[in-house]
Amino acid sequence: MSKSEKLFAQAQQLIPGGVNSPVRAFTGVGGVPLFIERANGAYLYDADDNAYIDYVGSWGPMVLGHNHPAIRNAVIEAATHGLSFGAPTAMEVDMARLVTELVPSMDMVRMVNSGTEATMSAIRLARGFTGRDKLIKFEGCYHGHADHLLVKAGSGALTLGQPNSPGVPADFAKHTLTCTYNDLSSVRAAFTQHPHEIACIIVEPVAGNMNCIPPEPAFLPGLRRLCDEFGALLIIDEVMTGFRVALGGAQEWYDVTPDLTCLGKIIGGGMPVGAFGGRRDIMMALAPTGPVYQAGTLSGNPIAMAAGYACLNELKQTGVYETLTGLTNQLAQGLLDAAKEHGIPLVVNNVGGMFGLFFTEAERVTCYADVTRCDVERFKRFFHLMLEQGVYLAPSAFEAGFMSLAHNEQDINDTVAAARRVFAKLT
Ligand code: PMP
Repeated sequence: MSKSEKLFAQAQQLIPGGVNSPVRAFTGVGGVPLFIERANGAYLYDADDNAYIDYVGSWGPMVLGHNHPAIRNAVIEAATHGLSFGAPTAMEVDMARLVTELVPSMDMVRMVNSGTEATMSAIRLARGFTGRDKLIKFEGCYHGHADHLLVKAGSGALTLGQPNSPGVPADFAKHTLTCTYNDLSSVRAAFTQHPHEIACIIVEPVAGNMNCIPPEPAFLPGLRRLCDEFGALLIIDEVMTGFRVALGGAQEWYDVTPDLTCLGKIIGGGMPVGAFGGRRDIMMALAPTGPVYQAGTLSGNPIAMAAGYACLNELKQTGVYETLTGLTNQLAQGLLDAAKEHGIPLVVNNVGGMFGLFFTEAERVTCYADVTRCDVERFKRFFHLMLEQGVYLAPSAFEAGFMSLAHNEQDINDTVAAARRVFAKLT
């Protein structure tokens, strides 16, 4: 029995499913999850000391690679001054200045502790500001596990086949209207039906929780126009895409200006951090300047701020996103070529440092319905065979993959060579 197997057996007695977040349990692919002992650069090392090239990157935050010295040193230095004060610090001002500089649509920002808190708070703010209750989200998009957002959600909610979780009152869910990603007519139909009731649209600007689906060129600008026409706010959820697709996020890449932005993952450099922010007039409606309540004992935590600040400063260096995108393109092309050699139908979507693999005969994959037509069984076999070859991909056909700046051409060539061996067995 491997150490991971032993640990998983113990964990299942003590923690539901043996994990503190569902997808980690390999529910999407079957088998025993690896217990990770340490990580460095592009590599993960499990409890049995096997090494893996990692394309999960802690589900997004580790864009610089694991155990990056700038972040590690910032955390150690901050820890020598105390772990939490529950009072304002200079670092929070520095962090707010940096984030609002990098994401110009954010006049003001508030820090929270997770992506879930960021989206939940942004939606409360949008509702409070507009005096409306309803919101629009898209099928297959995931915005954290707040009640009103667990409706036709992606990520683990998709993997587990529980788009509507028990425990979410129907009275909450009824305010959530679900439209089709990349389909503006479905959004117009929702607005036409409820012209004065919709507070906001929340959207993943590149969907990363139903695998990886980029927006069609007209989609995000179209959402902006519909929000303006019907007096709703546009919330762009950049928890995954922020500082990953481009330095200014997907909103910079696709040139669309939201009213509010949600951030998470990379903004904490690996520490638990989220943030939301946007137009000054809207943000001023938050307590204590305004009536919309939102708070957090550990929000703006000094260690988390130090980690995030160090991470963002590294990302500010020129050429970083060209490198990240170049590496991702190289991986995507390598995998496509290898699949073609073996007659395996494969679609690869990629933007900036994120990518998605789809085993499908289709030419393109543009919405949730397309994703559901992919060959999940083939993905499961592919996943396990790649793992045997030392490549750690997201353990679900419904999750995006993440490149880091610590990956190099050799890592990518090794990954493609592994995939070539695996494709030969998949036919
Ligand atoms: N929004 C998006 C787009 C996400 O991808 C996620 C998490 N994967 C969340 C929100 C929730 O973030 P967290 O898991 O930190 O609560």
